[in-house]
Amino acid sequence: MTTETFEFQVEARQLLQLMIHSVYSNKDVFLRELVSNASDALDKLRLEKLRDDSLDADVSDLHIRIDVDKDARTLTVRDNGIGMSYDEVGQLIGTIANSGTATFLKELREAQEGGDAEGLIGQFGVGFYSGFMVADEMTLVTRRAGEGQGTRWTSRGESTYTLERVDDAPQGTSVTLHLKPADPENQLHDYTSPWKIREIVKRYSDFITWPIRTVPEPAGEGDATPEPETLNSMKALWARSRDEVSDDEYHELYKHISHDWREPLETIRLQAEGTFEYQALLFIPSHAPHDLFTRDFRRGVQLYVKRVFIMDDCEALLPPYLRFVKGVVDAQDLSLNVSREILQQDRHIQMMQRRLTKKVLSTIKEIRTKDADRYATFWREFGTALKEGLVTDSENRDAILAVSSFATTHADDEPTTLAQYVERMKDGQDDIYYLTGESRQSIENSPHMEAFRDKGIEVLLLTDPVDEVWVDAVGEYEGRKLRSVAKGEIDLDGEGDEKAGEEREKQAEEYAGLLGWMREQLDEDIKEVRLSARLTVSPACVVADAHDLTPALENMYRAMGQ
Ligand code: ADP
Ligand code: MG
Repeated sequence: MTTETFEFQVEARQLLQLMIHSVYSNKDVFLRELVSNASDALDKLRLEKLRDDSLDADVSDLHIRIDVDKDARTLTVRDNGIGMSYDEVGQLIGTIANSGTATFLKELREAQEGGDAEGLIGQFGVGFYSGFMVADEMTLVTRRAGEGQGTRWTSRGESTYTLERVDDAPQGTSVTLHLKPADPENQLHDYTSPWKIREIVKRYSDFITWPIRTVPEPAGEGDATPEPETLNSMKALWARSRDEVSDDEYHELYKHISHDWREPLETIRLQAEGTFEYQALLFIPSHAPHDLFTRDFRRGVQLYVKRVFIMDDCEALLPPYLRFVKGVVDAQDLSLNVSREILQQDRHIQMMQRRLTKKVLSTIKEIRTKDADRYATFWREFGTALKEGLVTDSENRDAILAVSSFATTHADDEPTTLAQYVERMKDGQDDIYYLTGESRQSIENSPHMEAFRDKGIEVLLLTDPVDEVWVDAVGEYEGRKLRSVAKGEIDLDGEGDEKAGEEREKQAEEYAGLLGWMREQLDEDIKEVRLSARLTVSPACVVADAHDLTPALENMYRAMGQ
């Protein structure tokens, strides 16, 4: 058989370099990544076989097996799952599919300088490559279920890998790590020790629903080799009661399904009983992924039907503004053959979406009341996404508003809720004032702010493009209008100075000539010229009509292609 040699993609090579020079201090996690891939491969095979019984594959004993060889210093993780074809190995293992990789590498380099590289890595599906943290060579032998011929892939993690066809590969995939030389100083990292393997599997992969087997060390010198034993308890965490499961276990499941290496911010459990039974285990991550606002962000949770994995990224279960939520939903009464198209229409799925949405929102509310720091993290990472819900989900608008907070002239670094704003409103102030702009600084320097600053009236400082949209969609809060200080006529007279009204009428007469002249001169560009009480320092400013698009909104619509 011929062996072909290929170059890694540039980005892949850079990532490999990072792995080899191990940016991640906890090397044990390589095993979690390989087990995670094996488990995915078993899920996929079971599903494919369920959907196509004629598939020539053995699904009678799907499992993962870990073998170590002390003398050869190798560790092998084997599964009898879906496997990969020759082409797939090249595509999936030789390249980094993620389009954001270049951005990632840049961020990673910066993070390394700041010492926070660990978390970033997990976001980018470099799971398989993590083997190079502990191995100086990796070999992968795989055969796609249903195909006759297999493929061997090898690499030393440098610039190339080889591919070769093999005739006698068993169904599934085995990944063999040729471990780096033992570190006599550090016995803790002896990955040829069955004890070590057991410990790592228990810690990181206990919830995997497939058996993970290994052969334990013989009890004594000369004893027969023992039978393989199963290391994990295999219990689906979402089906167990809360007090049976530790936070660590939940967090490991989160890492498995989200490909994030960091702890989640919050774990949300939901057990729905009745005619349509389901269990959900959802997670709010602690960091927004870098591509949350890109078109190809893969959103959605995993869908299971009676413990059988059905699909990743099931979008139908949560609205787009909650796209940062990860997790698992396991339904009792759905067909194993459901497709994405059917899901979008399904009445039960719509009911589940409503219930899950309310549950997530009520959890965020709880975080807000119980833990200011955690709420601040949540809002910093996901507030911008959540605010989209103010526009798109009128049913839950109040619940979203209740957990939304905004920068304000009242405090430099502490955002305010609308409720808090209203509480602080001055006597005679009827409306909630805001101004939108690119940054806090540019808003604060706006001439529109002068009179408000002078009279000590609080103004919300809104800097996200979506702010322009939701303030219009929402319109008012508890009977108080949301008003832009840059739009329409602002009458601050009631708010502070009583004689100002009369005064202004007098002024209007006095300046009628000047205003008329200005109107003529600027006829092409503006609708109207009027005297204003909103300025205290600047002589004049341009104001939008109450119903005009603001410049930032015009930009956003243009960017969205509308
Ligand atoms: P991720 O798991 O995040 O997709 P990995 O680097 O861990 O990234 O794996 C890359 C891809 O290689 C997987 O998505 C999968 O398609 C394929 N792969 C890896 N390991 C296996 C395996 N044991 N069986 C089948 N496919 C695998
Ligand atoms: Mg993986």
